Amino acid sequence: MLSYEQARNTVIEQVGKKRGPRATATVGVWDALGLVLAQEVKTDREYPPFDRSTRDGYAVRSKEALPGAQLKCVGEIKAGDTVRDALVTGTCLQIMTGAAVPSGADAVVMVEHTSREGDVVRFTRPALAGQNFVPRGSEAAAAQTILKPGMRLGYAELALAAQVGATQLQCAQRPRVAILSTGDEIVLIGETPGPFQIRNSNSVSLAAQVQMAGGEPVVLGNAADLAEDLGEKIERGLKEDALVLSGGVSMGKYDLVESVLKAMGAEFFFDAVAIRPGKPAVFGVCQGKPVFGLPGNPVSTMVTFELFVAPAMDLLSGAEARALPLVQARLAEPMKEKPGLTHFLPARLDWRGPTPEVKPLKWQGSGDIAALAKANCFLVVPADREKLEIGETVSAFLRKDVV
Ligand code: AMP
Ligand code: MG
Repeated sequence: MLSYEQARNTVIEQVGKKRGPRATATVGVWDALGLVLAQEVKTDREYPPFDRSTRDGYAVRSKEALPGAQLKCVGEIKAGDTVRDALVTGTCLQIMTGAAVPSGADAVVMVEHTSREGDVVRFTRPALAGQNFVPRGSEAAAAQTILKPGMRLGYAELALAAQVGATQLQCAQRPRVAILSTGDEIVLIGETPGPFQIRNSNSVSLAAQVQMAGGEPVVLGNAADLAEDLGEKIERGLKEDALVLSGGVSMGKYDLVESVLKAMGAEFFFDAVAIRPGKPAVFGVCQGKPVFGLPGNPVSTMVTFELFVAPAMDLLSGAEARALPLVQARLAEPMKEKPGLTHFLPARLDWRGPTPEVKPLKWQGSGDIAALAKANCFLVVPADREKLEIGETVSAFLRKDVV
């Protein structure tokens, strides 16, 4: 059986091999958050475009602004002012943050380090050449590539595009991910379930996870535990960029997902992973499309999505697969787990103190959504460990949607 790292690498390798060029679309910066860039963005000029003061104070020649020295202030420069004239020897100019430092000046002295009487400014500390301004062109040269294809557009990347006037961006289209739940017991979330039925919460978590991962969910509803119904709905799902199923992959008599996929020509790369929850997770390629059969227990579905489907979606979006958000933390209490499987347990990570600390939450196993809704991470218990001591360093796998 594969470890979760091996299974994840298998997904990355196979999806990486199969993915073709993504269709792109032009998107305005206001709407491009989370999309993957499909073009280069270059600067339209140098940045900063002028020697930009970072303080309110006085533009000076540093060697003239010695402690105790006095200089006549002959004017002021506001942010946005056109600056043409050089600083005259023996004088200084009042300058504001964001304004252009005049030629001749080689430093800005903070107003806090001066005193003033009328036109005369007195300096209290030595000025150092180069202080308190950002030289022209030091952030980026003109026509320099600052954003590249494959980069995911977060708020800083969008601001950078906006700064250089790239208001329309060529972006990869979001991968469309079909979501199909399975099970005779499953009813629509708007329905009142019978005493032994349950609402389709997995389609909701999966749709949210697809969106979080930068994709567009295509919710296909639920298939009964019948080969024919499953086959029809899988066929529909294979029209999208990837298909994610929940349920029907365990050893039960009515767990038909794998056999139906097989009959439709799927090639499987794994059908079990050494993890708990989530052991029966299946990954294959069917008719050229990545297909994931995730176990139906809600927490298993959620964990296996984050471990295996999320990296596939990065690749299908035209980006590299992001590393798992694992954080090292001090274990807050001793633990005992069955060895042989890597456990992913609902937990709370607290990083307010000097050392991040993680504490497992009480839970009733992989059906316990309420426990996961209190968690901000999964505590990772390695497969080769049965007992963990208080104070040990362990990994916490962050829930990126809530931290
Ligand atoms: P399965 O993987 O099909 O054996 O299902 C395992 C458990 O997860 C069972 O208790 C199912 O009722 C439950 N389950 C399966 N599908 C869903 C779903 N779409 N929403 C909520 N729970 C589900
Ligand atoms: Mg089932």
